[in-house]
Amino acid sequence: MTDPVRVRFAPSPTGYLHVGSGHSALANWLVARRTGGSFLLRIEDTDVERNRPELVDNVLEMLEWLGLTWDEEPVYQSRRGELYADAAAKLVAGGAVYFCDCTGEAVQTRNKAAGGKPGYDGFCRDRGLEPGPGRAARFRTPREGRTGWTDLVRGEVSFANADLEDFVVLRGNGNPMFLLANAFDDADMGITHVIRGEDHVNSTPKYLLLVDALGLARPTAFAHMPLLVNEQRKKLSKRRDDVSMADYRARGYLPEAMVNYLALLGWGPADGVEVRPVAEIVEQYRLEDVNASPAFFDQKKLSFVNAEHIRALATDEFLARSRPFLTRGEPAAHALASLAVEVQERVRTLAEVEPMIEFLVDDDPAVDEASWTKAITKGKAVPEMLDATIARLEALDLDAWTPESIQEAVAAAAVDAGIVNAEGAPQLSKAQGPVRVAISGRSVGPPLWESIAVLGRDRTLSRLRATRLRVG
Ligand code: GLU
Repeated sequence: MTDPVRVRFAPSPTGYLHVGSGHSALANWLVARRTGGSFLLRIEDTDVERNRPELVDNVLEMLEWLGLTWDEEPVYQSRRGELYADAAAKLVAGGAVYFCDCTGEAVQTRNKAAGGKPGYDGFCRDRGLEPGPGRAARFRTPREGRTGWTDLVRGEVSFANADLEDFVVLRGNGNPMFLLANAFDDADMGITHVIRGEDHVNSTPKYLLLVDALGLARPTAFAHMPLLVNEQRKKLSKRRDDVSMADYRARGYLPEAMVNYLALLGWGPADGVEVRPVAEIVEQYRLEDVNASPAFFDQKKLSFVNAEHIRALATDEFLARSRPFLTRGEPAAHALASLAVEVQERVRTLAEVEPMIEFLVDDDPAVDEASWTKAITKGKAVPEMLDATIARLEALDLDAWTPESIQEAVAAAAVDAGIVNAEGAPQLSKAQGPVRVAISGRSVGPPLWESIAVLGRDRTLSRLRATRLRVG
């Protein structure tokens, strides 16, 4: 029997939850859920200068939104200072560290003179300095051998110890460095699999040396997730790219679609079915199948996956999930209910829902300039088509106001206006453009016949007449 899996997501609250950190969080959660293990949360908030405590709320809220729920109370590193001080004292007592009073400048000057070698040069290694204010504690890295680990994504990874600098463990002010708290906590929390972004690969050998020097148990395995890159194959950046999870929520992405899409970054299910319920991803996900090369965060594919998940919702659920996006409130909800299936099939995000039904709510729907240009200014036989449509629809009485008879009437209007093919059949796709813009202000929306049926006879005719006047 192997020990139950314990994994953790360990965000530093120096930024909001972005798609990259969400990707790592998800990998941890999937592994915990598949194995029946525990998914833990550790807030790495020891860097008082860079932390913004309010960002912790964002991280927790976004994880909850994604459904990545955790199994134990979150651990806050800021409340564990004594444990790190004890660990540091142990390192000092065991001779694993030495004290150093070099300034960054002095190190740089010496490195320059030595031909530009980077990193710390070991100047204080054998000076036997006592601890004191302004003196940092540096780890005495071994000069021989290698330090390595089994990485479930990258295979066997190891670094020559001689290439590792004597890194700082305690700052000159006595505060522990990130790596000490991070390595200590993983062992202390019984973490079996350390799953995190690839930016931590280079510090992993130092982490392992620290765990060994503290006499703690190493995690069973590591998995360093691939870097996420943009279209130009550049690392996703908060300044340049859309990466905020909260923004995706605000733009009408479903959490299950986001989870589904993030899981596909660097991984694919064996059966090739990419869009599927999260429960099925839990069953199929294996870190061993994750590809180490950078993964392209493709907004278009995300939209596609989102649209598929929207379509998979039961209609009532679609209405309920759309509700928060309806700025026009109850009237919009009412209008949406009348065209729910049609709208559900056509939107990629929940933010696209209201624009599709606005025309049913607003008395005088705003006219989209580009749609007007395309369908009216550049349209064929527009005045004729509008006149014919008005005449044909006026001839329909209220009992015949159904999508089918409306479609027939508009088809007949197209023939009247001469918008026909070589065989004399109406070209409905061309003919309906001006009608659609007249009734809704836009050139895309739910199917026209259903839209006109729901809009009603009076409103439809008055909008067609108003547009006819405007066309001149
Ligand atoms: N706190 C680190 C970060 O936000 C994560 C460290 C880890 O997962 O081990 O990058």
